[in-house]
Amino acid sequence: MSMSPKIVVVGCGISGICAARKLVQSGFTDVKILEATARGGGRIKTGRFGNSIIEIGANWIHGPSEENPVFCLARQYGLLDPEALNPENQAMDIKGHPPWVPNVFTSSGRKLNAEDVYPAQDMFVELLSDISDLHTQGGEPCPSVGEFIRSEVPQRVAERWKDDDATTRSLQMSAISNLLKAECCVNGTHSMDEVGLASYGLYKTLPGLDCTFPGGYEGLVKNLMSELPSDLVIFNKPVRCVHWTQSEPRENAVIVECDDGERFTADHVIVTVPLGYLKKHQATLFRPPLPLHKMHSVQRLGFGTNNKIFVEFDSPWWDAECDAIYLLWEDEDVLEQQRTDVHSSWIRKLFGFTVLKPTEKYGHVLCGWIAGHESEHMETLSEVEVTRAITQLVHQFTGNPTITPKRTLHSQWFHDPWTCGSYSYPAIGCSAQDLENMIEPLPTKGSQSRPLQVLFAGEATHPCYYSTVHGAILAGWREADRLISHYSKSKL
Ligand SMILES: Cc1cc2nc3c(=O)[nH]c(=O)nc-3n(C[C@H](O)[C@H](O)[C@H](O)COP(=O)(O)OP(=O)(O)OC[C@H]3O[C@@H](n4cnc5c(N)ncnc54)[C@H](O)[C@@H]3O)c2cc1C
Repeated sequence: MSMSPKIVVVGCGISGICAARKLVQSGFTDVKILEATARGGGRIKTGRFGNSIIEIGANWIHGPSEENPVFCLARQYGLLDPEALNPENQAMDIKGHPPWVPNVFTSSGRKLNAEDVYPAQDMFVELLSDISDLHTQGGEPCPSVGEFIRSEVPQRVAERWKDDDATTRSLQMSAISNLLKAECCVNGTHSMDEVGLASYGLYKTLPGLDCTFPGGYEGLVKNLMSELPSDLVIFNKPVRCVHWTQSEPRENAVIVECDDGERFTADHVIVTVPLGYLKKHQATLFRPPLPLHKMHSVQRLGFGTNNKIFVEFDSPWWDAECDAIYLLWEDEDVLEQQRTDVHSSWIRKLFGFTVLKPTEKYGHVLCGWIAGHESEHMETLSEVEVTRAITQLVHQFTGNPTITPKRTLHSQWFHDPWTCGSYSYPAIGCSAQDLENMIEPLPTKGSQSRPLQVLFAGEATHPCYYSTVHGAILAGWREADRLISHYSKSKL
């Protein structure tokens, strides 16, 4: 390429890194990434907790198999355990439900047998699968996943559990309530009442048994970044406004204005900021503002909070083979309104813990999961307050007042000013068109001004893998390819 176009990528998360890397590998020589913070990786963030490596952000490779770019890159860089490379692992189709060995505790301090809650689990998995099918059939009995579940449960309970006594039924209802909280974490939403029923099925899973990065997810980011020219990323450079043009054609059409006043001119800008940030700042981030249909899709799509609370113990109070601990509140019924006092009862929203494995590496560390407004409130508390709440919770559910955490550490994705939450989901009223609108470059079709001034990547712009690392990578590559093909065509 003789005269390389100027390309600015906003955001040094995995999507921005992958877009820039592909452009550089295709011969583009004038590529810059402007990143608000002092580090690359965004929502891929590996930290330390005592002697352990922990993931503050992305945790798993969801569906590690040939079609998953995270898996292929991680394999290429030698970042995976041999088990994850096993073809049997790649062929397993778990459809988003990892086969975790559970331990179940209740609020009266009882430890249940896993089988005790199988009926609730089976019904829940079946309901979610029915909802995914609804999408393909085009039927839509109510607006949200939560409402659908609450309307279906009484009928299915009446049919299937008619011979069960009230206590057994009530336990199953508590279990479904717990599963709904877990599903809020999966979807990164406050309530499944906010997740659109018709659009729930847009999300697609890949085959493969979810696996982790033994040396930390950030190893992937470091390897990818090491292949970029060292001056390509400019850190501590928040972008305030992208000035593009709808009307007259002009040289260096786009001006990227930073918080410190510095301006970068560019032929093309790839915006990869999180949807949460876009929701908050879209009115000022673009001049002229985004076209109305794009603005509306930014507003309509959901972006909620899911946080982790890491907790270390001297010794385990769960079984050696246990992968996940579920905490059932016996007074909670899926059909009744949830408590709303976030301040006094936020901890009820924590559905349970996953166990960090192997024990030889991590010691006895659990990762608690909490979504929604309660999670956002939790972020405002001190570590001492969070530790106190976790301690009380563990005492209550184990019935053992001597089990005390050594330490805790929690993520704070909602209050991260460059993320403003965790990840996206299709909210009530959303359709595939909203994701298409997110993807559409500026200026939109039919404009007389310079094409492809502003392009959009990032997790929330993938039509079926939104909310994941592989979705973010594929979206970055898609926008790099758009420019690559634009220049290969214009050369002809
Ligand atoms: C708690 C949690 C758990 C998760 N677990 C998983 C998982 O197990 N598996 C999985 O696949 N995915 C998971 N995800 C989702 C995954 O982390 C994201 O989908 C992915 O990392 C998003 O990449 P991105 O490049 O689109 O965005 P980001 O990583 O958010 O990158 C955007 C970048 O833009 C920067 N930025 C923002 N505003 C500006 C500005 N004005 N100027 C300049 N720079 C700016 C930010 O600082 C950031 O570096 C999880 C996320 C969270 C929060």
